Amino acid sequence: MYSTAVDPAMQPRTNPKPILTLVDPSPPSLKRRACRLLRRWQVWAVIILFAAGWVIYLVLSQRDNDFVDTGATYELYNNRIDFSLPINATHCGPSQGTRCPDRKCCSAGGLCGLGDYFCSKPRCQDRYGICDNARTSDIPVTTNRSECGIQFGTRCPDSLCCNSNGFCVNEMRGCATFFGCQSKFGKCDNSEAFSRGGYLAGADWPMLNTPPPPKPSWTALVNLSLVAPYGVKPDIRRFSCAAGWPLSNAFVNKPCTNADGCSCWWSCEKQTVAGTVRNCLRDGNEGTDISSCSPQYNNTIGLTFDDGPSEYTAQLLDFLKSKNLTATFFVIGSHVVQYPRILQRAYAEGHTIASHTWSHFPASNMTTEMLIADLLWTELAITKALNIRPRLFRPPFGDIDDRVRTVLTQLDYRAVLWNLSPRDATYDYTDTEADSAQVLVNLEQALDAGKMFPNFILLEHDRANETVQLASPINDILTRRGFQLANAMGPGCTDLTDSQIYGTARSGLL
Ligand SMILES: [Zn+2]
Repeated sequence: MYSTAVDPAMQPRTNPKPILTLVDPSPPSLKRRACRLLRRWQVWAVIILFAAGWVIYLVLSQRDNDFVDTGATYELYNNRIDFSLPINATHCGPSQGTRCPDRKCCSAGGLCGLGDYFCSKPRCQDRYGICDNARTSDIPVTTNRSECGIQFGTRCPDSLCCNSNGFCVNEMRGCATFFGCQSKFGKCDNSEAFSRGGYLAGADWPMLNTPPPPKPSWTALVNLSLVAPYGVKPDIRRFSCAAGWPLSNAFVNKPCTNADGCSCWWSCEKQTVAGTVRNCLRDGNEGTDISSCSPQYNNTIGLTFDDGPSEYTAQLLDFLKSKNLTATFFVIGSHVVQYPRILQRAYAEGHTIASHTWSHFPASNMTTEMLIADLLWTELAITKALNIRPRLFRPPFGDIDDRVRTVLTQLDYRAVLWNLSPRDATYDYTDTEADSAQVLVNLEQALDAGKMFPNFILLEHDRANETVQLASPINDILTRRGFQLANAMGPGCTDLTDSQIYGTARSGLL
């Protein structure tokens, strides 16, 4: 038998390695390399997977386009998103009870996001956020400057921004994207920032948040011969501070030509331990200012909110409604034209609306002519929104003097101040700087210190989220202490009648 086993020693010798390796002088052509690559199955697998992904993407994105990229879809936004839910930038859905920011969808897993994964119809939870994939050019231009954005499916005319509340605006606050300009629905032309707005219909409103220029036809409504000249301090010898309201130390060092009482040329102040309530109050024989509830309501807190309306006022209205409370809102004219619907809601829900200037400038620092224009532009905004004329006015920072009072009286206004503030009045209009915890401490201390001055009118603010969020804990403190809460300008506090609060619209302003 022939054996297949081979003795290794008998194997033929292999050729020794050549000393020189022959190198192919021409490397494989690109074509040959590609051919070699294509012979590998892994490459084919990658190509097939990629193609499958692309097909799936096309299918999904097509469905997505069907879903939002038509004008008609926008009509559904209002019905689908639950705008009453609070916004959370990342988490959303029924378990969180929050919705996504505008234009983001809430995925089935409860995360906010953009892109086809989030925006595809099977995953997007409509109630908690809706993607917006439409092109700006496909969105119709609104015919109403108080209705734009994702809420209405319309965009603003050129150079106006659509703010987060659905108003076409053109001023710095509205144009800054971090304050919620819905850029797809209108972009600001910042070269025109601070120029005229026009979101509340009915007038060509002056520049926002700035004292308007004098308007001669309005100046003529006031008998200037009865008004003290601007810049001249009143003769304080006619005037002494009311009992319990000593001279203000804050003005001791002001230059003054009068020999006595210079520090009280416009201000008396009521001292509390925790914080000074500093009002330029004029009461007693000469006074008409309101600063507290009537004496019989000696366990009452009269509620007032200043500086709105704002994008946060709606939350406050919800809160007040839940507590069955009403309050007086001293509103800024520049804000009324930006948020007229919120003002209308406040009025419809039984709150009192009063004036707090157009520009929030200190009234005693405006010339008489500017002050008249400032008051009447605010009045016009309130009248256009509510068809009533306000008769109550609160001076920003509590800054008022007899010159301002004379103008107010001639224009049928009465000044309203306050005698309790959870923060010092220096926070007026800088609410975002308020230290929330400290505000509550200050309030408790002011209440302790102010026991001898009951029937409070309380000053709160609704311009900033920070102070709106304080309404609830402040309410808790007051009710825990057993106070009755009432609308400051209504029954149970000042008992003002409707005709003392509002007049019929002034004719011929425009
Ligand atoms: Zn204010």
